[in-house]
Amino acid sequence: MKIVLCLFFFSLVFTGFGQQPSAKQISKHVRYLASDQMQGRGTGSPENKKAARYVEKYFKKYGLKPLGTDGYYQSFTAKVRRVVVPDSLRETKNVIGFLDNGAPYTIVIGAHYDHLGLGRQGSSLDSLPQGKIHNGADDNASGVAGLLELAHYFTKNNVTEPYNFLFMAFGAEELGLQGSRHFLNNPTLPLEKMNFMVCMDMIGRYNPQRGVGIGGYGTSDTWPAVFKGIESSIKFFTDRAGNGGSDNAAFYAKQIPVLFFHTGGHPDYHKPTDDPDKINATSEEAILRLEIKLLENALQQPKMTFTAVK
Ligand SMILES: [Zn+2]
Repeated sequence: MKIVLCLFFFSLVFTGFGQQPSAKQISKHVRYLASDQMQGRGTGSPENKKAARYVEKYFKKYGLKPLGTDGYYQSFTAKVRRVVVPDSLRETKNVIGFLDNGAPYTIVIGAHYDHLGLGRQGSSLDSLPQGKIHNGADDNASGVAGLLELAHYFTKNNVTEPYNFLFMAFGAEELGLQGSRHFLNNPTLPLEKMNFMVCMDMIGRYNPQRGVGIGGYGTSDTWPAVFKGIESSIKFFTDRAGNGGSDNAAFYAKQIPVLFFHTGGHPDYHKPTDDPDKINATSEEAILRLEIKLLENALQQPKMTFTAVK
């Protein structure tokens, strides 16, 4: 009898909480994506491809439906514009997985997986960037870890939500939001079926004085209802604007409501020192739990309408 009870509680733990974001998983994803072996995941590099494969592997493992143009992949040609290089055209891809709940509308969750590679793309802040590995642990291995953990949660929670989810890892964000813009101009899901978009870019350097910033609060009149009564173990603040910072800006331009999560700037931003050991995975876990609370509140709301922020 005791054993049966134990098994019962065990299974409760695994079905009820086992899929919650964990600092351990976050660390694992960040340490892989931002390792020196990954050479900074520069657009067009073999390591950039490897990063896309890593995301694909988890999308497959979590049972997401491929919604690219070639399985999970949506390939496109990005262009290096900020500096003159002989190989300015670079092949890369978005990675797209769909959680089909049979619902009419879909919530989009995205994070970019590319970074500055070896500092030859033009946006490094190092004084001598060429040839140095820009690991991009915060920017944006942290966001990809968040994306994978949210995909994990929503695929394993045994709930059929009243909205579908589209999980996307964007390529070529550092070259100017090229992956998200390519997707929005060639969508594999009609834009009018999208409820809102959640973007994570740099969520690994939580600063308790500042708190995590959440942009896009003004992009729909529904957000105040979603945030009502929200409590979190970490500090957060909202900002009305949704048209800056990362791939959320491309969705905002298409009049889709957005939320943008960001733990703020730091001295390692766009430098070779943006390393995995500086990531605060415990705080990132708390940020993802806050995101889940917000998403679960948003699931109770009708499809949002867009509001432009003046
Ligand atoms: Zn970024």
